[in-house]
This record gives sequence, structure tokens and C-alpha cells, in this order.
Amino acid sequence: MSSTAIDGMRAPRSVSFITMGCAKNEADTAHMRSDLIRAGYRIADDPAQADAVVVNTCSFIQAATEESIEVILDAAGLDNVASGRARLVVSGCMPARYGDELEAEVPEAAAFVPCAKEDQIVEVIDRLLGVERSLGAIPTAVRLHGPAASEQAPPSAYVKISDGCNRFCSFCSIPYIRGRYRSFPYERIRDEVSALVAAGTREVVLIAQDTGRWGDDFDEPLTLGWLVATLADEFPRTWLRVMYIQPEGVTDELIEAVAAHDNVCSYFDVPFQHVSPRLLKLMRRTGSVAAFDALCARIRARIPDATLRTTLIAGFPGETDDEFEQLCAYVENCDLDYVGVFAYSREEGTRAFDLPDQVDDDEKDERARRLRELADAVCAARVAQRVGRVLPVLVCGTEEDGQLVGRAMCQAPDVDGVTYVEGAQVGEVVAVRIDDTLLYEMEGTVVP
Ligand code: SF4
Repeated sequence: MSSTAIDGMRAPRSVSFITMGCAKNEADTAHMRSDLIRAGYRIADDPAQADAVVVNTCSFIQAATEESIEVILDAAGLDNVASGRARLVVSGCMPARYGDELEAEVPEAAAFVPCAKEDQIVEVIDRLLGVERSLGAIPTAVRLHGPAASEQAPPSAYVKISDGCNRFCSFCSIPYIRGRYRSFPYERIRDEVSALVAAGTREVVLIAQDTGRWGDDFDEPLTLGWLVATLADEFPRTWLRVMYIQPEGVTDELIEAVAAHDNVCSYFDVPFQHVSPRLLKLMRRTGSVAAFDALCARIRARIPDATLRTTLIAGFPGETDDEFEQLCAYVENCDLDYVGVFAYSREEGTRAFDLPDQVDDDEKDERARRLRELADAVCAARVAQRVGRVLPVLVCGTEEDGQLVGRAMCQAPDVDGVTYVEGAQVGEVVAVRIDDTLLYEMEGTVVP
């Protein structure tokens, strides 16, 4: 492959991304994409037309790993990659989790970029494509965050406020993949939010593995409540939403920051994982029905119509029939608006992998299916109670048939369904009277 001088490039070389997994990976992809655009690359939507294809992988659980491998192999089979005209890069969680083992398994890939090295993506792609640039041409000496000047930002965007996790829940591989918890400095977060807002974003979703402890690792500790209040004051026309708050992170200060700002979604996404104190202890977590009820009541005492979401795991090792029934009873009686359900996934390298009394795969799936059905019934009934209410809705885009689709403040991206509207513009926040619901979806009419 002949080398190209970036400053004199005739046609910019192009890079395409395929992103697997969760919102945190999407945020990482957005960073890499913006770095490449700043460095003079073009982003190609179609991997088959690109000079380099980056598969940003997920390996949080075995199923995600298998899916990522399939996608890597599909990318390796593209004509441009297979013929050597384009180079394949594997980034994200899989190189972080499997290292050399992965390199041996996937000889088709020209480079592996684990999560911790994603800020070197420009150098990696330069090397693979033979791009030479003058010293200092890569604008990363003072690293910029947020979209590049030429990018149009989406109406809703994720902003990561930290990486890694120190909790080591016994079922979870994240601390081994992403490393120890490290909060991103306030200035970095503010700069990214500011760039997004300037480029058209109307909703910023703050994410991390454990958002609630943001700032406690600084020399002069700060808090999530402070971060939310400060951003809400500085960007009063932008919706702010926080995801993945561990129960310990729901402080009175945070509740107050949410309550005091109209532009902060009254939305609390707090994973409980189970309600049996015995199983929670085996998970290296804490809680009980009483503790979770008290937490929900504490939020609702200050914000009565707050939207509450949790996630639960069915089929954790040693879960007895009785403990599973406790979980079902909890879901039937809980004061939650949305409940995500996962079957336990036995992950090599985690502490729960070696626990006795692993639940049979079919049984795990059956328990998850039953719990999900219960959750759907309970949550859909709550969604239906919104009929007749007027809610602010952010119009996020259009579906293939041209139908406008948005989300109310009570709907988080990717997990809670959407709101269908008509007669509005993408990127607008409009008042919508909810006319009908179907399971998690809502539809409504724009009111003047
Ligand atoms: S809090 Fe627990 S489940 Fe969440 S990332 Fe950390 S270790 Fe994993």
C-alpha cells in the first residue's frame, strides 16, 4: 500500500465503524470517529466502501462475544477487506478481555485496539493506511472531546462521565475488561456537552458503569448531584438524563438536583439485580425488598411522578425456586415503571463462575422468560396510565416509512420504547398529548 501525506491528501481516506453492545461502546465509537474526522479522515457509512473497517466489540457476556466474533468474520469477508484493499481493526472490549488469545484467533485483523488505547485510533489507522503527517498534525496533544466542527450531532447523544468499575459484582466481567473506576474531569465532560449542544444535540445522556460515584476519586471529591446541577444550569435548553446509578449513588443531593431542574429528566435507572439478601450477598451487592422499596419511596417523596427503572437477573447460581418466586412477587408489586430482565450468564474469570448450584441453561431461560412476562404486564399498565397526559417529547428521527419518532422524558433511549408523533421537526422538543399506547410504545398529538 503506497503511503499518503495527510496534509496533501487528494481524496480523504475513509473509515467505517461497526459498533456492538451498549451505549458506552457507542460513546467510545463517537469519540474515535470524531478524532479521525479531526485528523482528516472521512467516515463511510458502508464498510464495503471504506479503506479501514473498525469493529468496536462487546464481550460483556458470552452471547455478546459470540455475536462480535460473527460480525468480525463478516467484516473480514467483505471484498475490500478480503482483497487487502481495506484493513480490519478490532477495538473495544474483546481485545481488552482476550488479548493475545484473540490475536491468534482472528488473523484477518490488522490491528487490535483495546478500550484503554482507543485514543490512539488515529495513529493506528495512519500506520495501517500508510498515512504520513507532519509532527503535531494530529490534534490530540490537547485532546478535544465532542463532535468535530464538521459533524452534525444527533438530537440525543451519550456522554461518558467515567470508565471502569471497582465494585466487582461476582457475575460481571466489566472490572476485568475496563479496569478500575476513573472519573473523567468536569472540564472534559463540560467541553463534550458544549460541543454536542453547539452541533445540535438536545438531550445529553450521562453514562458510565457506575455513574453514582462520579467524582469520589478526585483529590478534591465532587459528586454526581453537583455535576448534574452544574450542567443543568449551564445548558438550560438541553435535556440531561443519567443512566446506571447503583443504589448507593441515589443520594438526597442527586434527587434534589433532579427535582430542582426542569431540564433534568426525572428518571432514575437503578439496577437492583435481585431482591434476595442471600443472593445479593453472593453477587457482592446489597439490598432487600424493604431497602429497594425505601429507595423508591425516598425518590417519590421528593418527585412523585419520577420514572423509575431497574434491571434484574434470573437464574443466578443457587437461586432456589422460593427465591425466584420472591423476585416474581417483587415485580408484581413494585413501584417501578420499567424492569429489564436478564438470564444469568456464566462468565469465565468472574467469581460467580465457580459458585456451586449453577442453574441449568433451560431453567435460567425459562425463569427469565416468566419474569419478563410479568414485568411487561406490570410496566405496560403503567405506560397506559399516561394516556391523556401532555408530555414534552424530543423528536429524534424518522422511521423508514417516514413516521416521526421521539421520546418523552420518561423514556430513555434504546430501552423504554418510543413516542410516535406527527407535524414536528427532528430535533424539536414539542408538547404531545398521549392518545394511545401499545406495550411500551406511545403515540400522541402535538398540542400548541
Ligand atoms: S457495578 Fe457491578 S454490574 Fe455494574 S459494571 Fe460494576 S461490577 Fe459490573
